[in-house]
Amino acid sequence: MRDFICPKCGQHLAFENSVCLSCRSPLGFSLDDMTLLVIASGEESSQAGFVDSDKYELCANLHLAECNWLVEKNPVRRLCTSCVLTRTRPNDADTKALVAFAEAEKAKRRLIAELSELTLPIVGRDEDPDFGLAFDLLSSEYEKVFTGHENGVITLDLAEGDDVHREQLRIAMDEPYRTLLGHFRHEIGHYYYYRLVSTSQDRTERFRELYGDAEADYQAALDRHYQNGPPADWEENYVSSYATMHPAEDWAETFAHYLHIRDTLDTAAAFSIAPAAATFERKVLGPSGFDQVIDMWLPLAWSLNMINRSMGKQDLYPFVLPAAVLEKMRFIHSIVEGTTLTGDSEQILGA
Ligand SMILES: [Zn+2]
Ligand SMILES: [Zn+2]
Ligand SMILES: [Zn+2]
Repeated sequence: MRDFICPKCGQHLAFENSVCLSCRSPLGFSLDDMTLLVIASGEESSQAGFVDSDKYELCANLHLAECNWLVEKNPVRRLCTSCVLTRTRPNDADTKALVAFAEAEKAKRRLIAELSELTLPIVGRDEDPDFGLAFDLLSSEYEKVFTGHENGVITLDLAEGDDVHREQLRIAMDEPYRTLLGHFRHEIGHYYYYRLVSTSQDRTERFRELYGDAEADYQAALDRHYQNGPPADWEENYVSSYATMHPAEDWAETFAHYLHIRDTLDTAAAFSIAPAAATFERKVLGPSGFDQVIDMWLPLAWSLNMINRSMGKQDLYPFVLPAAVLEKMRFIHSIVEGTTLTGDSEQILGA
């Protein structure tokens, strides 16, 4: 994530700000420009870093989801690129679930911004009614909700937005890391498997070599995983214990880590604690740049872990990346950067 600066007063801003805390200017995030802009009227609005309040406003989910993204007034957009992807949310009377909903949307905006930086295709169900991307953000208070992905629809149990609940699950499942953003990055991995791997024979074959059979019986794998746990030597071949469950989960876990790494590198580069080549703004990495990504990541992750320990916190990145995982991740990089280079998802879908 970039380091944002208030166009009016020069104050540092966070991705989530809708007002500058220094000069009180109203702000909106522009996904196209990947920047925060001041919403102004009259002559002021023609300056660089400003938008005209006659033409732009904040997303209709400003209050409901604390959304600070800009939408055009004409044609009337109302919901931003991120919020419009949410198909189901808690009803207005469910105030408890709505708090968790806002937390989930906040994490989702980070996901969508990164996908946009990587120029990965974001095809909604308006364009592709059967397999387009959509989110069902549901409260499990009154019904069972399974976080997961099916045919483009990502379902999230909003209870994951509750710190106590999520931390209990994390400990019960013996996971070193569990966050809303991590869930979204995992589930979007499933989505991109269907969009970018299963649509290409070459990629499906390479997937099988690296990860195994994506079509392997899922229920049997699930039962085996919860009965026996991961294989004893799993840390040599997988990024997490959950990744051992099924090739599809291995892909999604590895994909999530790829997104963790790229976004964290981008943020670190924005604050000059990683090389400038680590930012999304660079165009130099390309499909063969994976070694460079990892060469930048390993020392950064180590130093960030040591910084966290200085604050008495758990490691920021409590994972190791063995050679087998790096090979699996290299495949993901080549797909992501390959898509970036052609800039044409349809070309890949037709491949
Ligand atoms: Zn300001
Ligand atoms: Zn929005
Ligand atoms: Zn999964």
